[in-house]
Amino acid sequence: MLDSNFFRYTAAKLHCDKVSLEELAATFGTPLFVTSRRSLIESCQTFEHAFKELPHFTCYSVKANFNLAVIGTLAELGCGCDVNSAGELYRALQAGVAAEKIIFAGVGKRADEIVYALESGVLMLKAESLSELQAINRIAGELGQRAAVAIRINPNVTAETHPYITTGDSKEKFGIDEAELPEVFSLLASLPHIKLVGLDMHIGSQIFDPEYYVAATMKLLAMFKASRALGFAIEFLDIGGGFPVTYDPLKPATPIEQFAEKLIPMLQPLGVKVIFEPGRYLVANASVLLTRILYKKSNHTKKQFFVVDAGMTELIRPALYQSHHEVQSVTFHEESIVADVVGPICESSDFFARQRSIGAAEEGELLAVMSSGAYAAVMGSNYNGRLRPAEVMVDGSEVRLIRKRETLEQLVQNELL
Ligand code: PLP
Repeated sequence: MLDSNFFRYTAAKLHCDKVSLEELAATFGTPLFVTSRRSLIESCQTFEHAFKELPHFTCYSVKANFNLAVIGTLAELGCGCDVNSAGELYRALQAGVAAEKIIFAGVGKRADEIVYALESGVLMLKAESLSELQAINRIAGELGQRAAVAIRINPNVTAETHPYITTGDSKEKFGIDEAELPEVFSLLASLPHIKLVGLDMHIGSQIFDPEYYVAATMKLLAMFKASRALGFAIEFLDIGGGFPVTYDPLKPATPIEQFAEKLIPMLQPLGVKVIFEPGRYLVANASVLLTRILYKKSNHTKKQFFVVDAGMTELIRPALYQSHHEVQSVTFHEESIVADVVGPICESSDFFARQRSIGAAEEGELLAVMSSGAYAAVMGSNYNGRLRPAEVMVDGSEVRLIRKRETLEQLVQNELL
């Protein structure tokens, strides 16, 4: 069971803050994402406290959870945003984040996205190739602007994490290789509509060992020195996101303070502003996916299944990355059974847990899939004609609907017969 200050049993019923998950399911239906606002605030404050000695700016990586209320809560705490597309930029602006607190990333930005970012007045764009630098220069020229740009460097550090979420290895598509930098610097000298203001990296996600950050930051620092020697006035060093969270109580995440301990002494003497782009760290454990058990069944091997009303269309991480999510019965049961928790989608990979010991709940009862705040709703889909679920935010005993459940009409609204 995941130890959480925000999702706890009171009188044998799982609550989010002071609100019973059973009541939320009765009011809003299932599947339902339930987010604790206080959990978001606590994660953000813990992060900020760890890095308080370092002049820095935290840009929440919106891709982890782009609900406007989630972005808005983090923005109220002072965060800017890291966005990866026109859609995410639009969302951040709609959530009330000032454009000058937004950085625009992405390995394949379209021209219209570059125009949108420049016209919005974002703090900077992060460029990931020589061709992209040329495109930004041309578009900025057409708009009569000088674009503030950071170069995303590929530090060629292979962080130990799931292969689909490692990004700082030179065999991956991300960033510009170290070896290409001299060419980048000479190109920049010929691009009048670009102002190089930063260097950036992001080595992957769910990285438990701070040494990977140390190794990559050393490379970033070498490039920082080289670019300063060439006369570029670098104001920002962006270390990216990737800080870990606990999904499985048997594999507790390295505390953020251990990352700060290593990084602060390396970065503080430089006199630049450091940018962090945490996504998962801020939001993963702030939400659960609440789902109802439709059927219990067992097969000829006596294997037990809980068939629930949520599936990979709401939370694809187990199918995509074999990720672990704790699953808890909403009513506390002394007895437990070993079962697979599976969804209704026509794919064998549609599961939340396999052969897991879970409270012996009956059909019609609720289960909570824990740690569903990051890379969950945002990766949702309409596969199998599924409707995107509702989302609520809880703050103490207050509940706010932050996303309406999709309707059948909305499912076909953009289609023409
Ligand atoms: N920054 C960049 C460029 C990313 O690609 C990602 C995730 O893919 C993040 C930040 C956020 O990573 P995390 O959610 O692991 O903190």
